[in-house]
Amino acid sequence: MNKVSKILSSVKEMPVSEEARLERFEWLAGHIAEENKKVNITSITDEVGIATKHFADSLSLLRLEEVARENIRLADIGCGGGFPGLPIKMMRDDIDVTMLDSTEKKIKYVESTARLLGLEKINCIAGRAEEVGAVDTPLRESFDIVTSRAVARLSVLSEICLPFVKVGGYFIAMKAASADEELEEAKNGFSKLGGRLMRCVDVPFTFEGLDADTFSDEELSRLEEFSSAKRVLIVVKKVKPTPEQYPRAWARIIKKPL
Ligand code: SAM
Repeated sequence: MNKVSKILSSVKEMPVSEEARLERFEWLAGHIAEENKKVNITSITDEVGIATKHFADSLSLLRLEEVARENIRLADIGCGGGFPGLPIKMMRDDIDVTMLDSTEKKIKYVESTARLLGLEKINCIAGRAEEVGAVDTPLRESFDIVTSRAVARLSVLSEICLPFVKVGGYFIAMKAASADEELEEAKNGFSKLGGRLMRCVDVPFTFEGLDADTFSDEELSRLEEFSSAKRVLIVVKKVKPTPEQYPRAWARIIKKPL
């Protein structure tokens, strides 16, 4: 077991325990570090950083009952190098995942990585969310879960994500320290887009039984820092269809968020 497996298998709240899956995460961590020399995928390239900030953080979505449902269709908007969608797909053979990003080289990387991992039921699309999810397009209102991490402030993100959610499904934004402030700014916009705020879920991380010999003091203090950082999943239910004028053009969304 390398550091990646040790970290993922020690997350008390939801450990990864199957050996075959841990091996795939180990492989992916090495692959990210290698590929990052050619394509700028992420600024985090060491095992501890990848295992916590990319893998464990992405997998926290699986703790929610909305995501635990079987055979759902999930979209990751602005997936970049594949987070959170790729780790989620690596844990869940049943679900159908769509990865969307406006940067073509990132999507090409995600697509080839998914192929190398042997993942099925994963669809990679290069495009802008506000165009791909516009009215009368095939992916509009077609997902049970739409999620996104580190793409835009919540008031902007809801306009590009909620149109993709089918009525009865959920938009789940992954947010950190600024969650309360962003929620305050964004909450009036949810109803305009057909959404209703359901709950905000704090995401604790406790690492249990990590052997201190494997990790340097510096790595242990980074693990500690990761555990104590604030992380929130903001769950918005789609209660009625999004009016056809949304999403607006990007410049307009940014200039005047709902
Ligand atoms: N979600 C990944 C993560 O957490 O590691 C990547 C985050 S990265 C900071 C933001 C990504 O959002 C970039 O890859 C960018 O190309 C993408 N993005 C920004 N605006 C977008 C839009 N309107 N439609 C699709 N992708 C967008």
